[in-house]
Amino acid sequence: LGAARARFAITAIDACASTSTLLLERSAQGASSGSVIVCDHQTAGRGSRGRQWSAAPDASLTFSLLWDFDRGLADMAGLSLGVGLAVVRALDSCGAAGATLKWPNDILYRDAKLGGILVELSGDDETTRAVIGIGLNLKLPELDPVATPMMMPVAALAGMVTPLPDRHYLLGTLLVELAAVFDAFSAEGFAAVRDAWQACHAWQGRKVRVLRDGVTVLEGRCCGADSDGALLVDGDGRIERCLSGDVSLRPA
Ligand code: ATP
Repeated sequence: LGAARARFAITAIDACASTSTLLLERSAQGASSGSVIVCDHQTAGRGSRGRQWSAAPDASLTFSLLWDFDRGLADMAGLSLGVGLAVVRALDSCGAAGATLKWPNDILYRDAKLGGILVELSGDDETTRAVIGIGLNLKLPELDPVATPMMMPVAALAGMVTPLPDRHYLLGTLLVELAAVFDAFSAEGFAAVRDAWQACHAWQGRKVRVLRDGVTVLEGRCCGADSDGALLVDGDGRIERCLSGDVSLRPA
């Protein structure tokens, strides 16, 4: 389906342990591509590598989306980066400009963590099913209500109005941006959005330490991502590829 014709089936619930866990269960029971679960209160949200995602009720947007791709599992690298790009674009078109990304799955606002992305993939050589979880903090002290236009979603981000209707507005915008990124990704993989992603990468050009299992394995300067979404780090003239799921980035 083209982005303009994408269809979503949205289920809104008060509370659950994890929207992604629930959607994975629904996937096993026959849920179709475009299924969305959005939840007011997630009690056991999951981050990457078994980490927790805690979301304050009424101060966050928490949802998961199921999407089928006509691409084999091996060609899906970098999807979580593309999802991050869609989030930045959606925030921007809701009037909340200035969000950036930290490889591989963090959304930042002025260096504070505005949100996280969890992509869980299953499939074979031909097709892939993605369950994509997104958690956004909609009240951060760093969000300055004076510096941003007074559109409704921004007012919600700044904690100035009841956030509920605005969360729904943001969700709708996000789904449209996600569908556009999925279209590009289906055609060409991460390479289709790499330049746009790099333009949003807060740590581009920055000196970093790369940690594996908590131990620094490399120091160097972030110099982009390759067409598979692997981070490229220049350690004294030698470019190393870092794979998501394997390492963490910290400032040097
Ligand atoms: P890495 O730096 O290794 O890439 P991470 O710490 O960013 O990983 P994620 O899986 O992206 O890990 O996110 C989970 C982490 O985010 C948790 O361990 C916790 O430290 C933090 N976290 C949990 N809930 C929130 C929240 N609502 N807002 C900001 N940060 C959160």
